Amino acid sequence: MSPALERGIVVLGAGPAGATVALGLRRLGHAVTVVGVPRAFDAIEGVSDRVLAGLRGVGIEAALAAIEAPSPRRATWAGVSTSLNSERLVDRAAFDRLLWQELQDHGIECIAARVLRWVPGNEGHGLQIQRPGDTQAQTLRARFVVEARGRLAPHAAQGVRRGPETVALLWRGQGAPGGEAGSAVESLPEGWAWTARLPGGAIALQLTVDPAAVDLPPRAQLGAYIRQRLSTVACARPFLDVPANEVHALARTSGAVLAPEVCGEHWLRVGDAAMAADPLSGNGIFQSLSSALQAPMVIHTLLNHPADAPHARRFHRERVHGLFDRFARIGRDFYAQELRWADEPFWASRLAWPDTVPAHAAAGDAAPRIEERPVVDRDRIRLAEVVVTADQPLGIWHIDGLQLAPLWRAVQAAPGREAEVMAQMPGVAPERAQALLRWMRAQGWL
Ligand SMILES: Cc1cc2nc3c(=O)[nH]c(=O)nc-3n(C[C@H](O)[C@H](O)[C@H](O)COP(=O)(O)OP(=O)(O)OC[C@H]3O[C@@H](n4cnc5c(N)ncnc54)[C@H](O)[C@@H]3O)c2cc1C
Repeated sequence: MSPALERGIVVLGAGPAGATVALGLRRLGHAVTVVGVPRAFDAIEGVSDRVLAGLRGVGIEAALAAIEAPSPRRATWAGVSTSLNSERLVDRAAFDRLLWQELQDHGIECIAARVLRWVPGNEGHGLQIQRPGDTQAQTLRARFVVEARGRLAPHAAQGVRRGPETVALLWRGQGAPGGEAGSAVESLPEGWAWTARLPGGAIALQLTVDPAAVDLPPRAQLGAYIRQRLSTVACARPFLDVPANEVHALARTSGAVLAPEVCGEHWLRVGDAAMAADPLSGNGIFQSLSSALQAPMVIHTLLNHPADAPHARRFHRERVHGLFDRFARIGRDFYAQELRWADEPFWASRLAWPDTVPAHAAAGDAAPRIEERPVVDRDRIRLAEVVVTADQPLGIWHIDGLQLAPLWRAVQAAPGREAEVMAQMPGVAPERAQALLRWMRAQGWL
């Protein structure tokens, strides 16, 4: 076996989450190494403009070339057809390739290798990696590990939270370039279909079902099965009518999943490795960015400010769990719009999961209270007083550049004299104070 490599922070996986963390850590002055292999399968996915903004925000530019201009998105859901919104389609293989190159252009060490084994330890982690073409594995020792291997990242079986079992049957084809790009989604008795076409002629057909409720064909017949089923689906027909050669057909587990633990003293899980959403939301990349964006500050705190380490871990855990619950409930409400097949297994299990808690609590549901909670303060996490409300359960620290908790405490202590108290707040201009008071009233706090 070759001699062990010694590294500081090692990120496993170079998808959007791993890349985001690596770039953020580098910006904070940390030496970081990324170990990754390209995805095993190609995919076309849809993203919104906020994903673009998020990627730009972390310094990703060149990889954006793989994201197409917005194209029409048709939807037939609960029997209603709309073609109002658009989405940006992205060829994930091309995007991930550009991302890998871009990390290196930013000066980040990238090791093209598969991670075979990760043995965590408080005095350092042992990673077994294998480069393409090598017959032997190599050991990489790391002080801190960021797990960003997406849905493929292993985790303990106990304590994992899963949504209803879901499998996506994917057919990829290649037709001639040109023609109209776009995508379409439609609800079906046994699940839903998503179809897309890129300007370069790549075509994606996706059938999402409950594997226990459908007789799935043997692998060799999967492509024919997907095409045959979608040939009876109105929204999919334009995507089937163009001649295209099959590139692959495969089945991917795609249900929502939350890892049993998302951080320790010397490791952190981000992106789909921490929590993966039902792809119906079309928000997977957005969510993976959400959990990865603040991870560099969490890691910086764990490494450089040990006294605040428990707050940093709590911060990461609460955010990942909050994201998981929020998107699970939004998904439930979206599925609930389709009433025609509420008794079918696919729909029945999704209407009841995760719970009956509203996806969006109304701002005035409970009186705002002041609590000490972890916040991001520039490059680190620390405790601060925040105002916790029903719709902001993690708390609001600042608003319009002002710390909210002292202002809310003062206002609460002077019923009937709120305007007067705010006008006297040191360091707050009178017009800002009045605007803030109006905002508190609009939230139903007063
Ligand atoms: C069927 C389906 C459809 C989807 N459609 C959409 C969509 O339309 N829009 C959207 O926003 N999201 C969609 N998603 C979700 C999206 O793909 C993910 O949420 C997103 O890619 C997560 O990013 P990530 O960086 O966490 O993980 P990934 O993008 O999965 O990146 C993980 C990386 O780790 C690498 N890796 C894995 N194992 C190893 C190993 N052992 N060693 C080294 N490297 C390894 C992988 O090759 C990969 O490069 C869909 C998901 C599914 C399942």
